[in-house]
Amino acid sequence: MNYIMNYPVGATILEEGATGDCAYIIDKGLVEISVLREEGKVVLAVLSDGDIFGEMALVSGDVRSATARALVPTSVSIICRPYFQEKLSQTDPIIAMLMKLLLARFHESRDKLLTLSNACLNTINAENRQDAAAADKEMHQEALVRFKFINELQAALDRQQFVLNYQPILVLDKGSLAGFEALIRWNHPQKGMISPNHFISIAEDTKDILDIGYWILETACADIKKMRDALGVRQDAAEPWVSVNVSPMQFKAPDIAERFGQILVSSGVEPCAVKIELTESVLVENPQLALNFIREVRRLGIKVAIDDFGTGYSSLSYLHLFPIDILKIDHTFVANVFSDIRSREVVNAIVALSKSLNIDVVAEGVETKELEVLLLDMGCRYGQGYLYSRPITFEQAMMLIQRF
Ligand code: C2E
Ligand code: CA
Ligand code: CA
Repeated sequence: MNYIMNYPVGATILEEGATGDCAYIIDKGLVEISVLREEGKVVLAVLSDGDIFGEMALVSGDVRSATARALVPTSVSIICRPYFQEKLSQTDPIIAMLMKLLLARFHESRDKLLTLSNACLNTINAENRQDAAAADKEMHQEALVRFKFINELQAALDRQQFVLNYQPILVLDKGSLAGFEALIRWNHPQKGMISPNHFISIAEDTKDILDIGYWILETACADIKKMRDALGVRQDAAEPWVSVNVSPMQFKAPDIAERFGQILVSSGVEPCAVKIELTESVLVENPQLALNFIREVRRLGIKVAIDDFGTGYSSLSYLHLFPIDILKIDHTFVANVFSDIRSREVVNAIVALSKSLNIDVVAEGVETKELEVLLLDMGCRYGQGYLYSRPITFEQAMMLIQRF
């Protein structure tokens, strides 16, 4: 519930160090914002009609970082956190994200101001005010840049700016090609190729990952079909499969398995040519949802891999509860097997676990021959990494399959 409060001259509206769960907008009056320091009271600002204070309480339950006191009879509208959070959850995700970003940045610039204010005792000098104004400007600039980026990302699918690259996965003991992992890139008209690390999480926040995810699966299915068809006449070649990353957000869509089934059928590719990669964290965070999804896609004939395995330890103990087909060992462990005994133990344990559960295992991030030899020794079946190939374009992948 939001409400209006009136404060007489000298009344404390909120106090530094106290917990709070509401923000204030001054309807009429003057409010002094101050902090208590060793040197005494430091006045940070005097706010008037239309100004907001205490706003961080809307997004976090942190204690108040300053005291607010009415300098004249003051009337304020109070916005409570439950109300704000409810509205935020219903609003457009971009607006919600921007709101959080702006509040966090605003808070940061306040913190900067507080640090400065310690040095200049009781008043904020002109230079510091300029600093605060510059910080505000910077915050607005950043918000605008991000806003533009989000808008461009939302239009990228329609503008056909996404591309899939394919990274080969090899059968280690034979040195033969087993399949590819499909990895998305955003071919931005000004910025060039943008790594998925820079946009997937934003696409998750805005829920654009749902449509992007269907596009990824459609494209990967169509591409792997072309590759398998191209090899069709060669009896000696094993048919490669494609592994597609599915983000946690995607399987929250209630009809995802059905949509995946439709995509598979309309592409005409055999289900065994497609695998899905889920990160280990989804098993931990959303076990029931993950289990339902895994069961449904496996019913379609699609195999399921657990990606970045080893990073979310807790699921090791209940891995046997999930009907999965492949474990992908996270590249951070693989990269450190020579330098870090614990990483080596983790890799060993994962390979042993996969054997006992009769699951295939893929080591990611294989960069050296030495590493390949060790992984073979450990009994790891598949490998993927720069030693064999970086992610390549579809055209390059078409050429590569002819060589194996
Ligand atoms: P990931 O699924 O763990 O993908 C493997 C990443 O490791 C890829 O980075 C790949 O280029 C990189 N990599 C491959 N070999 C080596 C190596 O030998 N050494 C090192 N240091 N790195 C290697 P990329 O393509 O930048 O993808 C980053 C992450 O973005 C992926 O991590 C995945 O989480 C996400 N991602 C990529 N494509 C998609 C997609 O189509 N959908 C979704 N939901 N996420 C994607
Ligand atoms: Ca992956
Ligand atoms: Ca991975």
